[in-house]
Formats: sequence, structure tokens, C-alpha cells
Amino acid sequence: MAKRVFNFYAGPATLPLPVLEKARDEFLDFAGTGMSVIEISHRSKEWEKAMTDVDGLVREVMGVPSDYKIMWLGGGASSQFFMAPLNLQVTGKPMEYVSTGSWSQKAIKEAGIYGDVKVIASSEDKKFSYIPKNVSFSDKAAFGHITSNNTIYGTEWQYWPKVPKDVPLVCDMSSDLMARVVNVKDFGVIYGGAQKNLGPAGVTLVIVREDLLGRVPEKTPTMLKYSTHAKDVMYNTPPVFAIYIAKIALEYMKGIGGIKEIEKRNRAKAKVIYDVIDGSKGFYKGHAVPDSRSLMNITFTLATPELEQKCVDEATKLDLIGLKGHRSVGGMRASVYNAMPLEGVKKLAQFMKDFQAKNQ
Ligand SMILES: *Cc1c(COP(=O)(O)O)cnc(C)c1O
Repeated sequence: MAKRVFNFYAGPATLPLPVLEKARDEFLDFAGTGMSVIEISHRSKEWEKAMTDVDGLVREVMGVPSDYKIMWLGGGASSQFFMAPLNLQVTGKPMEYVSTGSWSQKAIKEAGIYGDVKVIASSEDKKFSYIPKNVSFSDKAAFGHITSNNTIYGTEWQYWPKVPKDVPLVCDMSSDLMARVVNVKDFGVIYGGAQKNLGPAGVTLVIVREDLLGRVPEKTPTMLKYSTHAKDVMYNTPPVFAIYIAKIALEYMKGIGGIKEIEKRNRAKAKVIYDVIDGSKGFYKGHAVPDSRSLMNITFTLATPELEQKCVDEATKLDLIGLKGHRSVGGMRASVYNAMPLEGVKKLAQFMKDFQAKNQ
């Protein structure tokens, strides 16, 4: 068997081993065609079936209602930072955003290209260590935008902000996509890059409520209109390999009990690490305040950068990989996405306890 480590990278990130094995096993012969999935025409009946199936899987696993369209787009979640405001702008109405970290800030910057942006709440005053409370969007807004999980700072929304009935809520779910039960009906648009919880980089899942498709200015490049992809999910050649992996990952998720079960596991996993942090008497300091803690990205610091580096280095020797924090926060970050097994989290927790005992 190939060597496998526990991979705590923030993205691209660990995927379930059975998904990788299935991809390997059928790589040379996709669906009995005698061709690999990356060789076959996207107009073949075998690939058309895969596209239909993956649509059905997303609907089933996430509970996406029939009045929402599912699209598989290139350009990363970062392209949604401009595509969402481009498609959802309404002349004379401000676009309202909540700033909870670097990804929100990038989204806010891009929205500014299309019109008036109002940042109605922010946690920048405390290094993005919390999710603002009691957020509500105004009825004047074209839409409201949030980032459900802040990958870099390790915070996650524990409630959804209030939105007036006619104001769609737009959510960048890149780093907690399918990690917990979400009522899709609470949102107008959900988007997320696949590479944290769903599959490889190269495809972004975008879910758009149908009634929003008509807002886009006519003079918009065809590829940048949601309506183009809503009408034809393969308007152009889709990122077939990334979609294919997402499809078998969805089959796997469905097989283990769907998002309900995944959420249960994610809560249990995150608790193991947060318990070590909380029990360390300040040796490990969590960056996020407890009521805003992410289930996906656990961020913490130690007394000095040197000690943090030592901790990362020693973890690496034990095949606990990718624990260095993002450069804007420093410290350490354990990304424990859907596919991280409990076993990996337990091994990390034990390592953290041992490291503290030797270094405090
Ligand atoms: C990773 C990430 C992005 C950027 O995704 P790309 O696919 O690299 O463009 C955007 N938002 C959040 C919350 C992320 O975690």
C-alpha cells in the first residue's frame, strides 16, 4: 500500500481514501468505455449521464430544491467574488457585505467594481477572531453576502444573519461546503471551490435560485452570466476530471450517511482538538473566540514563533502534515475537513499533549 499521512493542509486538502482508490481503479476505463474520463468527449452519453448524476447527487446530499440551478464553473471561488455581484447587482441598490476575513475582503473589493458596497458588519477590529452578532441586512440591499467559514482565521458562522424577504443571501461556502446541515432555501446563491471538502481544485460549485437569473446586465460576456450555465450546464467543456472526483466523493458521502452524519463526525473531531487547546492552560492559545470557532480550520498560537516552528517540525516527523498557520495569522492551523478521519485528529491531539509536556 502507498504511504498515506494525515494531511491538515487548508486546501487543496485531504480526500477520502476510498474515493481516491475508486478513481485509480477506473482511471483507464471510465464507465466501460475503454477510455479515461479525461479522454472521453464531454458530449458522449457516458459523460452526459455523469453530469446528470452529479446534479442529482448534489440535490440529494445537500437537499437542493428544484427551483435552484446547479453549475460547475472554472476560475475558482475567487471568480465568484466578481461573478456574484456582476449577476446580482440592481441599479441604485447597495450590495451589503459582512467582513470576516481575507476572503470576505477580496469579495468586497470585487463587488466595488459594480457599484456601491456597504460593509454592514466587520470583525477586523479584533483580527477577525469572531463572527459579528445580530447581523441583519437592510431591505434596500440588492443582496447580502457572507463567508460562512473563514479558512484563514478559523471562524465560522453559527447562525445565519437576518435578511428581508426580497433580499437574497449570498454565501461563500468554500471551506465548509457540505460540512454541516444547511437549509439551501435560506440562500439565494451558494458557491464554493471544490478543493477543501469535495474534490480537486479546478471546479467551483455554484447554486443559484432561478428567480435571480434575470438580473444580469445584457452586455455581460456570455461565460460570465449565471443564466448561460443555468440554461446549459455544459455551455462549454466543463472541468471534467474535477467534476468526476466530486461525483464519486458525493457518492461516498451519501454512502456514509450524508451531511447529517458528516456534521456529527466533524463536531466530534473539532472537539478533540479544541479540548486540548482549552485544557493546555494557555500553552496553546486559540485564535477564534469560542462561540465563533470553526469546525474546519482550527487556528492557534504558541508562546513564540520559534516554538511554533518546532511544533510544526516535530509534527511533520510523525506524519502530521500541513500544520503551519497562514502567514497573515501566524501560529498553527489544523484543517480538519470532512475527509480527515477521527484517527488523524486523535493522533494530533496526543502529539499536542506530548509536545506541551516536553516544552512548557
Ligand atoms: C479557498 C477559499 C477561496 C478561494 O478559492 P479559489 O478556488 O482558490 O479561488 C475563497 N473563499 C474561501 C472561504 C476559501 O476558503
